[in-house]
Amino acid sequence: MHKQSSKSGSGVLIRGSLITLKRKCGKPTCSCVDGEPHTTPALSYSVKGKTHMLTLRSSDVPMIRQALNNYKVAAAELEKKAISGIRRTTLNIMNAKRRD
Ligand SMILES: [Zn+2]
Repeated sequence: MHKQSSKSGSGVLIRGSLITLKRKCGKPTCSCVDGEPHTTPALSYSVKGKTHMLTLRSSDVPMIRQALNNYKVAAAELEKKAISGIRRTTLNIMNAKRRD
């Protein structure tokens, strides 16, 4: 029934940002010596204040992009719930104080 959901990691959440690493490979005959450096897509993410880097294959990028967006959507949803929780608690406390 949900065969599509396992495809391209549609339910996966990833926090971080997609970046492009640029480097020269060091081969003296390579076109990167004088021209454009090689580029590698990578995911930069931090855990407990430490930044990590995961280099990707270009074929991974669409899935990572999707998972980063999934995280944004979920985080926005959580933020909304937290704010409404604060609002509700504020009202409860104000009402309780009024009754005192
Ligand atoms: Zn090169």
